[in-house]
Amino acid sequence: MAVKLKKRRNMEIETDFLVLGSGITGLSFAIKAANLGTVAIITKKETIESSTNYAQGGIAAVMDPLDSYESHIQDTLTCGDGLCKEDVVKFVIEEGPERIKELIQWGVEFSRSGSTEGLLYDLGREGGHSMRRILHAKDSTGREIERALSEKASLSKNIRIYENYFSIDLIMRSKLLGLDPAPEDRCIGAYVFDIHQKEIHAFRSKFVILATGGAGKVYLVTTNPDIANGDGIAMAYRAGAQIANMEFIQFHPTSLYTSEKERDFHAPAFLISEAVRGFGGILRTQDGKEFIEKYDSLLFSNKSDICRCMSDDFFPFTSHKFKKSIADIDKSAFCQRSDTHGN
Ligand SMILES: Cc1cc2nc3c(=O)[nH]c(=O)nc-3n(C[C@H](O)[C@H](O)[C@H](O)COP(=O)(O)OP(=O)(O)OC[C@H]3O[C@@H](n4cnc5c(N)ncnc54)[C@H](O)[C@@H]3O)c2cc1C
Repeated sequence: MAVKLKKRRNMEIETDFLVLGSGITGLSFAIKAANLGTVAIITKKETIESSTNYAQGGIAAVMDPLDSYESHIQDTLTCGDGLCKEDVVKFVIEEGPERIKELIQWGVEFSRSGSTEGLLYDLGREGGHSMRRILHAKDSTGREIERALSEKASLSKNIRIYENYFSIDLIMRSKLLGLDPAPEDRCIGAYVFDIHQKEIHAFRSKFVILATGGAGKVYLVTTNPDIANGDGIAMAYRAGAQIANMEFIQFHPTSLYTSEKERDFHAPAFLISEAVRGFGGILRTQDGKEFIEKYDSLLFSNKSDICRCMSDDFFPFTSHKFKKSIADIDKSAFCQRSDTHGN
């Protein structure tokens, strides 16, 4: 349906930092950037509506004195099956405890262990981890993080949150000046649609941060919320950015069944927490047979291969579209396997 735009002059808004997205990425960046200048956060629904808000199980970090960075790094490299960049894994894991402390300082309340001696926080265990290292807030970890971060951001004088503002496209200097795109081209803002007022505004900024989350909604059945449309990836692509690693999409093997009618309405499937498997839950077929080892032991090179093979065996009703969407991503112009594996 075409949207009728109002005929009045649209606003031009200037800010030091323009953050597109209000999940954990956008909010945590905004909270830090607010110490350096003004920040505008653009979010296409209410602030909390994000994948972050639906995350359940928790965040892995080395918090137990019996645990070690080496062990967490090794577990991660094993799960990555040769595709991880070791320096990145090391950096992320070694940063983990500090970032957790920061979240706690910002007001996130992780579930406590209840023991008077020993560990302060209750650490869960999930698939792939040889130790208990998952900090969680009951089974609504993401909701707790989103609550604390959005409260913290809304208290900052330097941050303004624009809810129901939909970013449409990045403003590139070359395009604005009518020049040919050059390597030194810069992104200087974004065009944003105010959904309620039906107006388009130009936000100008020294720094533009894309924090628009994932693209899980390309699948017919997904646990991702409706906002996960890959808008930011598409905007970056249109602006000339090189897109990589598109085949790395996390696959949640357990969710509540969605009926055909619900699927028609594109309702997200409710995730059955991965913590269930971490605590020893076993996936079985309808006739009670265990099956996941078959896919693990096949030593596939990546998860999309596992996904495709499982969809053949277990999801005949979605099989065609499921496989097609994966195949489309595999084939798409901006997914170059040589890039992703070689870098
Ligand atoms: C059901 C579920 C369970 C999960 N469980 C876990 C878990 O236990 N542990 C874990 O580590 N991870 C988990 N994840 C993954 C985790 O939630 C995400 O990796 C993480 O939250 C991504 O954060 P983000 O800030 O990058 O994106 P998001 O949280 O998705 O935020 C994206 C933001 O961008 C906004 N946006 C998008 N497009 C536009 C646009 N065009 N204009 C304006 N705004 C836009 C959205 O409205 C939203 O505010 C889970 C995900 C799901 C869906």
